[in-house]
Parts: sequence; structure tokens; C-alpha cells
Amino acid sequence: MRMRNKPWAMDFLKTNDDLVDTDSAYALKIGDFFNTAQPLHIEVGTGMGTFITELARRNPHINYAGIELDKNILIRVVEKVRALDLKNVKLLLLDANMLESYFKPQEVERVYLNFSDPWPKHRHEKRRLTYHTFLSQYRNILSENGELHFKTDNRRLFEYSLVSLNQFGMTFHEVNLNLHENEPEDNIRTEYEGKFSAKGNLIYWLKASF
Ligand code: SAM
Repeated sequence: MRMRNKPWAMDFLKTNDDLVDTDSAYALKIGDFFNTAQPLHIEVGTGMGTFITELARRNPHINYAGIELDKNILIRVVEKVRALDLKNVKLLLLDANMLESYFKPQEVERVYLNFSDPWPKHRHEKRRLTYHTFLSQYRNILSENGELHFKTDNRRLFEYSLVSLNQFGMTFHEVNLNLHENEPEDNIRTEYEGKFSAKGNLIYWLKASF
């Protein structure tokens, strides 16, 4: 996802510091950031936030942290959270490779990855969010019965991820090679999902645990 650079983006995010953590101020104390103590789910690579804001609207009893490394994109999520007046969402300007420094062990109950960048070149494999170094971080921050949910239209990334998760010893609970064929009622389409599905691409989905 590319977004034009907005020179005012960081100032904007900082003036919304009740909603956005731009400098890891709540690292290892995310509970202090939320109004209410309740289960925590995270989305890594939130994009413009359609998914996490709708999920949070439907599930007020769960806290959601949206993790995004692009400040220009995060602005759009701030706008959505404000418009819906959601109290159970916080946004973290953070690279996913910092997850372990940010969350305490077993603090998170679910990790969502939606339409993660595929990084098709072999030399960029380490950047894929299902590369083993990221899986190791998810494992450490997830609770005992915690789940990883991964959705993409990119067949090669999905195939890669099946192997990567399997090599990591993960258990697959569901694998769906055409999620929209009988689209579950609780499926929330992300921006990319809407766009790629309209083009006729198949949507792949899996749910796994460590
Ligand atoms: N999830 C959204 C969707 O499905 O519409 C956005 C998908 S977009 C292809 C991937 C997003 O992940 C981008 O916004 C990108 O900035 C973010 N991203 C990529 N690598 C990341 C990382 N290491 N940490 C945090 N965010 C990352």
C-alpha cells in the first residue's frame, strides 16, 4: 500500500496520543492505554483500518490494537476510529519486528494478518509476516490458546505460509481456499479484500495456533 507522504502526519498522530502510541510509550503496559481491562486482539499491518474498526464495533468486549508502520496510512485509521467513537481500539505506529518488545509474553489472544505484503523476491523472504522470525514473536506474545488468523489473495504467499507455519510446528484449525464461496457471516472484508475479490481473485484464509 502506497500513500503520499504527509509532512504533518507525525504531528497529527501525536496530537491524538490518547488513541495512537507513536513512540512505544505503552510498551509492556498496553493495559494502561485502554479504558477497560478485557481480552486483547491485534492486527498487524492494519492498512486504512476498515477491518479493525468494524471488528471493534461488533465486539466491544474485546480490546484491539492496530499495528501499522506507515504514519501516512495510520492517519486514515485515526479518522475512522474517531468517526465511530470506538473506545476499544488503540493504534500503534510500530514495525512488527518489535512486537516482542512491545507486548508481554502471552498478553495477546489473537493475531490477525490481512493481505500482508507478499514480498515475492526470495531475497526479501525475511520481510514476509509469516517468516519464522515473525512467527516466533507471535508465539511469544500469544496466550496458550491464542490464534493466528491469516487472509490473502496471494496464492504464492499463502502456499509459502502453509509451509512456514507447518515447519514451525503450528496446528491448523481451518484452511479455506475460497473464503468467498460461502462467505462466513462474520467475515469482514478489508480494503484489499474488497478490491481483489472484485477482480475475481480467490481469497485464502487460515486459522492456526502454536
Ligand atoms: N490489511 C490491510 C488490508 O487488507 O486492506 C492492508 C494491506 S497492505 C498490503 C499491508 C499493510 O501492512 C501496509 O499498510 C503496510 O504498511 C503494513 N506493513 C507491512 N509490513 C509491516 C510491518 N513489518 N509492521 C507493521 N506494518 C506493516
